[in-house]
Amino acid sequence: MPNVPEIFGCRVFNDATMKERLPKGTYKALKKTIEDGKELDVSVANVVAHAMKEWAIENGATHFTHWFQPMTGITAEKHDSFISPTPDGKVIMEFSGKELIKGEPDASSFPSGGIRATFEARGYTAWDPSSYAFIKDGSLCIPTAFCSYTGEILDKKTPLLRSMEVLNTQAMRILKVFGDTTTKRVDTTVGPEQEYFLVDKKVFDKRKDLIYCGRTLFGARPPKGQELDDHYFGTIKTRVSAYMKELDEELWKYGILAKTKHNEVAPAQHELAPIFDTSNIATDHNQLTMAVMKRVAERHGLVCLLHEKPFAGVNGSGKHNNWSMSTNTGKNLLDPSKNPRENTQFLVFLAAVIRAVDEHQDLLRLSAASAGNDHRLGANEAPPAILSMYLGDELEAVLNSIETGEVYEKKDAAIMKTNANVLPNFVKDTSDRNRTSPFAFTGNKFEFRMLGSADNIACANTIINTIVADVLQDFADTLEKAEDVKSAAEEIVKKTIKEHKRIIFNGDNYSKEWVKEAERRGLLNLRSLPDVMPMYISEKNVKLFGKHGIYTEVELRSRCEILMENYCKIINIEALTALDMAKKDITPAVAAYVRELAETANLIKSVDSDIITTPETDLMKKLANLLSCFIRKIDVLDKAVLGAKGIDGDIVKTAMYYKDNVLTAMQELRAVADEMEANMSAKLWPYPSYGALLFSV
Ligand code: ADP
Ligand code: MG
Repeated sequence: MPNVPEIFGCRVFNDATMKERLPKGTYKALKKTIEDGKELDVSVANVVAHAMKEWAIENGATHFTHWFQPMTGITAEKHDSFISPTPDGKVIMEFSGKELIKGEPDASSFPSGGIRATFEARGYTAWDPSSYAFIKDGSLCIPTAFCSYTGEILDKKTPLLRSMEVLNTQAMRILKVFGDTTTKRVDTTVGPEQEYFLVDKKVFDKRKDLIYCGRTLFGARPPKGQELDDHYFGTIKTRVSAYMKELDEELWKYGILAKTKHNEVAPAQHELAPIFDTSNIATDHNQLTMAVMKRVAERHGLVCLLHEKPFAGVNGSGKHNNWSMSTNTGKNLLDPSKNPRENTQFLVFLAAVIRAVDEHQDLLRLSAASAGNDHRLGANEAPPAILSMYLGDELEAVLNSIETGEVYEKKDAAIMKTNANVLPNFVKDTSDRNRTSPFAFTGNKFEFRMLGSADNIACANTIINTIVADVLQDFADTLEKAEDVKSAAEEIVKKTIKEHKRIIFNGDNYSKEWVKEAERRGLLNLRSLPDVMPMYISEKNVKLFGKHGIYTEVELRSRCEILMENYCKIINIEALTALDMAKKDITPAVAAYVRELAETANLIKSVDSDIITTPETDLMKKLANLLSCFIRKIDVLDKAVLGAKGIDGDIVKTAMYYKDNVLTAMQELRAVADEMEANMSAKLWPYPSYGALLFSV
């Protein structure tokens, strides 16, 4: 049994370690930088760097790296050793303040969306002191932001940090008008729940689709899927349990507050949730968590799949982004308190979120758009592609009373009677949950449920922070001028409900009726990435991000371009993989089986010349027909892939083409393959079946 408090954070240069290792003055200066964003003096940075290096070496590190989040979606690192030669032919271990603060990786091979040509390769990484440095695989990793020589941002951390600042400024204005003089800072907080699949490495290695694409492109349904609901919260298997145990311990060593683990709905699917932290730390930690999940799986002969839809026919994986705002003293601004009807400040923050979500459905939707997640949203397992909010009965009633002016009767918390003497009775929550809502109020935070399991949460949180800050700014403008703050605030809340209540929906988001109802309400229903991504650069959004200094128009355009290019590239890789599998493995396998059947049929006929057809003949004909259909579909997909090369220049058109032609052709090819697999000899089928993939661990 590990001593958890002892191992927790042992790989992190955290506050306790800083306090212990830095001279008092240096520690204070660094804290000031972390808390107030004060610039750090080079002499101070030198002292910090030295202490960091000493600590890192004592803990087995030989290298350091700036650790950053370029637009690839994963983290990047370039390792330099601490060694520095001495005149006597030996080395000493050195690390300067300059090296801590700034790095200069060649930026030319990171996606920039046309911001830079490759000959303008210079890029900079800049230390983010608000996220602790840590040791991973013998390297001291320093969390950094990443920008180009000309100053454009090339990463996901910088806009997130900017959006947190913007929200802080506007939220502080609101707190001030409500008479708060003690709060110094408002931070956004995030707890991301991470879903994933585990498959046996030996089985994984036999599937080209999983190796190249992270998801299966073929696979007939197994006899059993998730219909018995026996996996959700089910007993965790020994091998998975051993994996989860080691994963927890690894994460704790990185100072990550891994808290909850359980089986999810689909077979072989699981979830991990940490305790929430500030958005910036939560983002860094979630990136690190995903990397550690994969690494630990290897040690258990497993592969951790983070793709949003690794298997057709069973649920895919998402990432629930729990979000709130908190003061530096730890007060949650979305806590409704005992009597929300009288908590005007809470209602103002709540109204801001409601209006922000309604006004910026497009941005929230696109923050969750990816080639992988397109297979989930709207597929009756994840929220639909339509944005709506769930508030619960109590808040709904409160808002109703404000809108209509009717008196609000607070319902006392109900006691849940268990009617069994040995069981305690307990107080029920004031409202039930709605598992189908994309943006649900869950007691004292909002849970944004659209994100895909592989997403970097920075993008969604940059957007949530910015759109909420934008509304708070408008509210603050009004409230600061008001003579009677309380009644002005009530007026704001009332107006917000009147104008934005269409976004509130408490019913079943998976139902067909909702799609119609949402259309009637004028809500957006953008089903795929190419439908929604061009909205990133709409006039409204360029203005919004420009106004708050999050992205310049150039940066926004580059992001849009990168995300759409990435979508096309992914589908292209998938199509090439499908073609490879279809031509090189599936076709020969089916042909061999057809031949085997033909030979058996001939053998039978040769014994008795009266026999004209045998069962083998029937099956042979069926498979031969399917195979010729399959070969025609291969041809269609081949042509579709080639066709994409013909659309030059226009990325929106290209992305649309991939969706409408290439993806469709892949699906049609798959349908035939799956039918052949269902009628084939398992021995001859070239890949492990879905049954083997989903039930082998
Ligand atoms: P469930 O699956 O029931 O929705 P979990 O316990 O799996 O809930 O996850 C809830 C997540 O919400 C956790 O990561 C938790 O730390 C986080 N959370 C709780 N309070 C806040 C808050 N104020 N701000 C952000 N996240 C929060
Ligand atoms: Mg959960």
